[in-house]
Amino acid sequence: MALENVKINALKGTIKYSSRTYVYISASRKIKLDSSSTYAGIIIEGRNVEFVRMVLRRIRGSHNPDVYLKPVFLMNGNAHKDPLVAKLIDGILNSFDQIPLIHDITEAINQRKTELTFINSISFEAQVLSKLMCYMYTRDEKELEPVPYALSSTNYSFPFLACNYEPHDEFQIFDLLQVAVNEGLFSAEYSDRVYLCANCKSSHLSYRETCTKCNSTNTDSFDIVHHFPCAYVGPMTDFTNDLDDKLNCPKCSKTLKHIGIDYDKPSVLHICKNCNHRFQDFNVRAKCMSCTHDNPVEQLVAKEIFTYTLSKKGEDVALRGYSSTPKDIEEIIGTVKFDTYKTVVKYEVERIRQTEGSSNIVAVNIVNAGQFYAKVGSNGQQAFLRDIVNEIRSSIRSSDMITFYSSEIILITMNDIPSKIVNRILNDILDLLRKLIENNFSDLALDINGKALQLNLETTSELQINELINSL
Ligand SMILES: [Zn+2]
Ligand SMILES: [Zn+2]
Ligand SMILES: [Zn+2]
Repeated sequence: MALENVKINALKGTIKYSSRTYVYISASRKIKLDSSSTYAGIIIEGRNVEFVRMVLRRIRGSHNPDVYLKPVFLMNGNAHKDPLVAKLIDGILNSFDQIPLIHDITEAINQRKTELTFINSISFEAQVLSKLMCYMYTRDEKELEPVPYALSSTNYSFPFLACNYEPHDEFQIFDLLQVAVNEGLFSAEYSDRVYLCANCKSSHLSYRETCTKCNSTNTDSFDIVHHFPCAYVGPMTDFTNDLDDKLNCPKCSKTLKHIGIDYDKPSVLHICKNCNHRFQDFNVRAKCMSCTHDNPVEQLVAKEIFTYTLSKKGEDVALRGYSSTPKDIEEIIGTVKFDTYKTVVKYEVERIRQTEGSSNIVAVNIVNAGQFYAKVGSNGQQAFLRDIVNEIRSSIRSSDMITFYSSEIILITMNDIPSKIVNRILNDILDLLRKLIENNFSDLALDINGKALQLNLETTSELQINELINSL
């Protein structure tokens, strides 16, 4: 029996088994997730479902493959009964002594991870899709199923993808998956349909019957009575009285006998208690429980929900690395491809060798770029990046180059200018970008920083670019 090989270090919160180390996270033992990247797997205490959801969102929402692909297990508790949590974990434990039982799962995931290629993408969609394909590949999963989930703003959740979006932006996932289908990465099979609020795209709707005139829900309904002998037609209230429970006709004063024989109830009449309007057919409206907008049902946004299957192409692309969707930013006017940028810097280093001039490479890092991309959606992203490039362009010389290293990092050349002035220009650029965001987004602040590096002759241009990026 292998049980005695499990070694627990209570102080560090780590558990060692067969040369691999797991780290334990609980509400009272939190860790920095980036430091978890060195462990074989993560074990989360499963008693507090909110805590588990929060940790899992951060793990699967990370952009670091060493974090988001990590094997994760729950220990004790009932958090795994949450449908979202269930899709984001790789197994359940009742005791650390059971680690040998889940060890093969950990090894398989980490082994399959070594087969993948990770490349930086400048497109948020490509980055998220690439994460999804890598996640599915490491779990040897082909099917992506919509999960009915009351806590999802769209009612159906794709849990791994949802970790990459703010809850109120979850509807963007439908468009993202459509891009994946158009690209041939997934095939789709119809599953269901949801309706979204026209205002905020939430699917938490309350359907009600309302007055056709004033939209109030405060209505009463009465049977309409048709008295055959005298042909009188009127609401039931016309036939009732306060003395007994008999029905008397207001026109001919006879007592009604048997439904179907001397009278009938051909329809129903509704009376609005707000505006006294009388009508036969209700309107149906859907009140959004997220933003309170009262939608006429014909204005709701219908979305088809599919079950997706990873295609052979999708799997190949995950192995090779995926960096662009057709909606990509490849051709933003005023930028060059990263390869071109590297070549330009290489020649600049050669030029300095001859002229002894001072040239810099500069990086601008939009730390929370993902938040903006998720907010503006695939269509807004190009415009967002174009605005940023225009602001940068206005501060540098036309001979200088701009490139996207990733969706967060923009690199610039500033040739033949003293470092002191370069730093001043960089600060101006950061200020301009902050103002740009302030003017366009009321509810999001830009987390941005920048660095400049003076090119030297000691190391290669490529190493200097890496040094700049790593210094951010
Ligand atoms: Zn709404
Ligand atoms: Zn009314
Ligand atoms: Zn009558």
